[in-house]
Amino acid sequence: MKIFKKITFILCLTLFLSGINTSFISQAEPLVQNFGDELVIVIDPGHGGENLGTIENGFEEKTMTLVTAKAMYEELIQYDNVMVFMTRTDDKDLSLKERAEFAASVEADFLFSLHYNASENHTHFGSEIWIPYGPPFNAYGYQFGYRFMEEMEDMGLFLRGIKTRLGDKGDYYGVIRESVALSIPAVILEHCHVDEARDIPYCETEEEWKEFGKRDALAVAKYFGLSSQALGVDYSAESLTLPSANAATVVQSTIRDETSPDVCMIELLDTNYETGEALLTVTATDYDSPIIYYDYSLDGGETYCAPIAWPGVDLLKEQYSDTFTCSIQLPEGVQPEIILRAYNLADLYIESNSISILQEFWSKDTYGVTNKEADNSVIETEADMTNVVTDSSNQPKRHSAGTLTFTPAMSETTETEEEVSFFAFLKLCLIIAVLVFFVVLVSQSINYRRRRKRRRQRIKELENSRNHRR
Ligand SMILES: [Zn+2]
Repeated sequence: MKIFKKITFILCLTLFLSGINTSFISQAEPLVQNFGDELVIVIDPGHGGENLGTIENGFEEKTMTLVTAKAMYEELIQYDNVMVFMTRTDDKDLSLKERAEFAASVEADFLFSLHYNASENHTHFGSEIWIPYGPPFNAYGYQFGYRFMEEMEDMGLFLRGIKTRLGDKGDYYGVIRESVALSIPAVILEHCHVDEARDIPYCETEEEWKEFGKRDALAVAKYFGLSSQALGVDYSAESLTLPSANAATVVQSTIRDETSPDVCMIELLDTNYETGEALLTVTATDYDSPIIYYDYSLDGGETYCAPIAWPGVDLLKEQYSDTFTCSIQLPEGVQPEIILRAYNLADLYIESNSISILQEFWSKDTYGVTNKEADNSVIETEADMTNVVTDSSNQPKRHSAGTLTFTPAMSETTETEEEVSFFAFLKLCLIIAVLVFFVVLVSQSINYRRRRKRRRQRIKELENSRNHRR
């Protein structure tokens, strides 16, 4: 009986686990790339010498990439049947062509060029990987890129995709173009953005640069299905469960999206004047690539908050939510005009319709302060759950408590301006009517009193005259 129970339990467990993996295994395919008995890997630390790379926030990319590359090297040489080379092991200048030629000279199976990112407006965050466009290297790059993205996601980083980019001469990025020209698959690993607050905690110390190197090595081991007696690991199963790719074609999702997202609409659901929160429904679609970020403006599009990760975005599954609800903190003392922008994988955006909120929000704290407090305190306007870019001219102005204007929090203002002015006009008419009625009433009563007084006087006069006659 006990044995029967055990067998049932094991059967159930097997069914349960196979159920979990079904969706993944049905898409999973083995490694497309073929390589010889001994694998040759070339690690290319980006930049070097005069070429500093990104130098934002005191970071020097050429130094970071060298530390990461050395850690990746130390890790990879522990795997069996692998030869590992580095294009540079010290701080020296190398052209992109020289890097590719070095890889060709050692008959490399793959070149991994390591980098750290920065964006023009310092607003982007997350990891991305650039791969060759042409088959069959596109398929190799895509399958490796998937393993790399998994490692970055596991570290907690946001994913910006496995992408290609074409220029006039073929692949846009030189190290990929030069390597492909010599029949070597090459990819650019952009680990994270050194100039963005959400990514900086991942790359502040040398230990963290080394951690990236270890992750890169792990992605390589899982892609090629390597094993290591020294480390006691075997990743041969991982190279059989890669995402579907074909050596003869270009993976659709890696093709650069040249157009902005197709639809972006916002709708005001609710406004809470107790807390100053506006609740919006956001709907957006891109027919070509996933939507990854959104940002919004509270001043009709003059300034925008830092981009926020699009809810439900999963680049490994190529999914994102079409519709979501978001809460926006309104600044005090202004009439916000909200516009939202949705960004796709190619960082192209579409602007939504705009929504004007005519009623100003004032927090209870501001309303309750005394004159003295109001003069001394500095207003803090956190216009967003992240950080909003507002210039000083857009800062809501605080009235001193004496002249503080407060609009009672009665109803949310979703009506259009015309409707509001119509109601104001009606109100004015009503007040005038009441006033006129009151004036008429008062004048009537005064007249009545005067008449009564005169009548009494006349009666008195008559009585007096009668008395005289007597
Ligand atoms: Zn770089």
